[in-house]
Amino acid sequence: MPPRKRRLRSRKPATGRSPQKPRVTTRAKSPPRKSRSKSPKKVGAVPPLPAQPEEILFRVEGKMSTFGGPHDLGMSPDEGLALFSNADLKDPRYSYLFLPAPPPGTSGLGRRLNPDQYYFACRWNYADTPREFLRRALARVENPANGRTADARPVDWGPHPSTGRVADLSPGLAAALGLNTDDVVKITISARRAIPVKPTLSMKRAGHGSSNPHAKPAIKQFIKSPNCSCRNGARIDKIVLHCTEGSLASALAEFQKADGRQVSAHYVIDRNGDIYQMVSDSDRSNHCMGANQNSIGIEHVAGETDPLTAPQAAASAALIRWLLQQYQIPRTNIFGHDFAPGYSRPGGTSCPDKLFGATHDQRTIAAWVEANV
Ligand SMILES: [Zn+2]
Repeated sequence: MPPRKRRLRSRKPATGRSPQKPRVTTRAKSPPRKSRSKSPKKVGAVPPLPAQPEEILFRVEGKMSTFGGPHDLGMSPDEGLALFSNADLKDPRYSYLFLPAPPPGTSGLGRRLNPDQYYFACRWNYADTPREFLRRALARVENPANGRTADARPVDWGPHPSTGRVADLSPGLAAALGLNTDDVVKITISARRAIPVKPTLSMKRAGHGSSNPHAKPAIKQFIKSPNCSCRNGARIDKIVLHCTEGSLASALAEFQKADGRQVSAHYVIDRNGDIYQMVSDSDRSNHCMGANQNSIGIEHVAGETDPLTAPQAAASAALIRWLLQQYQIPRTNIFGHDFAPGYSRPGGTSCPDKLFGATHDQRTIAAWVEANV
């Protein structure tokens, strides 16, 4: 169930060093505010640390709520975002954050946010974290109560200090982390995690001498696909799950063809649980346009309406467990094809279809991961 929205937000101007007094917007249809009689808990906001030596550029901990998307009636229909404008809708780096079309009766980017994507707002001081930096930044968002983490993009300024909260998260991000309104969240942005991500230690850490407690599941056959390229050392930080929408033979044939759609995946898991590898983890495979650089792609052989078979689910879970440990990928960074951050194919995709459940959303994937991996 999505967290209840109890928000009161306003934002600073997108640019300029002298912040104006925040504008408090009032909305006829806003849900009732939390009673003032209950004395607000002290918010543990931690001021940003200096950039050296930890390279932590922003850190905050305190209560959160959710915002954005077509159902957020706390945002006015024309309300925009502090960090993004309409011009960004055409930029594949950012367009995935938004719905393909504005919800009926709206013109602002706030209601056009895709609530399933991972984004958030904090009260930025643009002198410390300039707007251009934030637009490229990837933050680590954590639920300290259960240790779950996910990477998310800053999109807006807020919430208003009078809410007693330090951040507003996307409904999808809050759900993935198991956070409800007024739970405590921890958000960190380090210089190292700005996009594009520089090569990091995780590739070196992997492989021989790694302390991965999980064995890599047996690979039935390595069939090299030509449809791949070098990652140039980029960090592997997510796993993308796919449905072949066809037979094993057709998937293997397609991925071996250099002159076809030039697509591939790192792994293909058959209905009987056999795992085929087609691209080395250290290379980029062509499985998720816009999100290949930092991801591992896993195809599952199935038709458009088939769920995973039991042996296929077990093989996939074992492979994912190994990958998570091997590359230090957060559990929350396992996405269905259509929901992968960065995925930029216009019109999206029906993949991963019904593999992980009947509904086509990231919550279904996250629930399967939670139950099986
Ligand atoms: Zn796919």
